[in-house]
Amino acid sequence: MATDCLFCKISTGEIPATIRYEDEDLIAFEDISPQAPHHILIVPRKHIRTTLDLTTADNQLIGRIYQVAGKLANDLGFAQDGFRIVNNCNEAGGQVVWHLHFHLLGGRDLSWPPG
Ligand code: AMP
Ligand code: ZN
Repeated sequence: MATDCLFCKISTGEIPATIRYEDEDLIAFEDISPQAPHHILIVPRKHIRTTLDLTTADNQLIGRIYQVAGKLANDLGFAQDGFRIVNNCNEAGGQVVWHLHFHLLGGRDLSWPPG
């Protein structure tokens, strides 16, 4: 837990969020500024700053994030239409919250290439 980290505080319940999934290692909640009809952030409880800070010890954790994304997409009914999982890394990648997270976006046609 990083004391001054927004997503650590959401993980502990100190800051509220609309939670869609949680277990011992992961939490998934609604993005406060949704960019699609469905926009959920999937976040490891462990404070990992960016993708570049991952180690082999995190391999299973990252695999589970993709499984949870697929489960949420199925449960919320947009899996078969299609969806996107996005991880922004560092400034040019668009990262603004410095705790690793994956965006799950669905519910509309998503254009490519992204902005
Ligand atoms: P990124 O640009 O990849 O770092 O994404 C950070 C995301 O966190 C943005 O999509 C924000 O809308 C979202 N966000 C910021 N504050 C909150 C919050 N309190 N609850 C939920 N989502 C948030
Ligand atoms: Zn954190």
